Amino acid sequence: MSSAYATLWLQPTRERSLQRRHPWIFSGGVARVDGSAAAGDTVLVRAADGTHLGWAAYSPASQIRARMWTFGGDASVTADFVTARVAAAAARRAGLLSSGLTDSARLVFSEADGVPGLIADRYGDTVVCQLTTAGADAWRDVLADALFALPGVSCVYERSDADVREREGLPPVVGLLRGSAPSPDLVAHEGGHRFAVEVEGGHKTGFYLDQRDARAAVPAWASGRRVLNVFSYTGAFSVIAASAGASSLLSIDSSGPALAVAARNGALNGVDVGELMEADAFLALRGLRDRAQQYDLILLDPPKLANTERQLDKATRAYKDLNLLALKLLAPGGVLMTWSCSGAMSMDLFQKVVAGAALDAKREARIIGRFHQPSDHPVPLPFPEAEYLKGLIVQAE
Ligand code: SAH
Repeated sequence: MSSAYATLWLQPTRERSLQRRHPWIFSGGVARVDGSAAAGDTVLVRAADGTHLGWAAYSPASQIRARMWTFGGDASVTADFVTARVAAAAARRAGLLSSGLTDSARLVFSEADGVPGLIADRYGDTVVCQLTTAGADAWRDVLADALFALPGVSCVYERSDADVREREGLPPVVGLLRGSAPSPDLVAHEGGHRFAVEVEGGHKTGFYLDQRDARAAVPAWASGRRVLNVFSYTGAFSVIAASAGASSLLSIDSSGPALAVAARNGALNGVDVGELMEADAFLALRGLRDRAQQYDLILLDPPKLANTERQLDKATRAYKDLNLLALKLLAPGGVLMTWSCSGAMSMDLFQKVVAGAALDAKREARIIGRFHQPSDHPVPLPFPEAEYLKGLIVQAE
């Protein structure tokens, strides 16, 4: 079997991370590739001493030169194998999706579910997927069939327009893969709320499933309070705060179309989401500070500010600025929920950044809770890189 496949030979000692089941092979760890391997092809991976380490998806344009499909063993990467991985990932979410809490969840989270490069989010009967690597791209039809074969799925739509594809040398691809076109009125049902899913024009796959646990935590701090939702996107937190009886609500986002959906989300849930401000958050927060505005609950959920380790310094300053401005706007006893979705920033560093911001804002504050990504965004024990979302609940004096 292996004769049809190219062999990727590792540099000496570079097998160690693979033996610990870490799935990435960096370009610097590759000694040579014997045979011809195109982007996305499956290659046999061998240590410098010839030990068979497993099979990987080859990506010649990427710094992450190959991603492991399997470790050791003789399992071969066939359509049946890939299909079974997708089905197994979906099965792990069965409990969440049958709990009555929600009809929407991330079904497949790339390496974290053993399907490198495939993100698949389910919203009711619709699956929206992103193929982010050459390996996933090469299996497009098999992945589409596997997702379409899941019980109750009537539409599989591709949103492979994320920046990460550039690093893999892949063009953007958007469109219907299987079934009927996604409904323009598609909603995610969660905890009695309905949220519009912007399949074709929204961020990521159309909705931030990864803030589900946070949405559940907001009501306790929103009832009767003045709420400021910064980086609101389509106003999911605003809808929750309004439903919980916030006394006032201001949502800020730089995207007009996202704010228009926020208004629609208010209507869908029969609540008034209050004031929607289209503005740069840094400027808007300064403006509110200059007008001495105060809030009892502030939600601060910026986009990914550091894409890589190298951008971390600059991003750290931006996170600090934002948190400093937010802390200054907190009323006595007020609560700040603050997040970083930059994988390069650890919880430890994020806590230091927020602590530094509180110091500069001259506010005494305590951590009263923490957020992590929810259960449908798992982190394999050998692959801490899967962890990207972290947040703190901080109460000021
Ligand atoms: N909290 C949202 C998700 C936020 S995503 C939710 O729960 O659904 C980050 C948002 O930040 C996006 O909507 C994007 O439009 C917005 N954004 C990016 N840069 C911005 C800036 N400089 N000022 C204001 N909003 C910005």
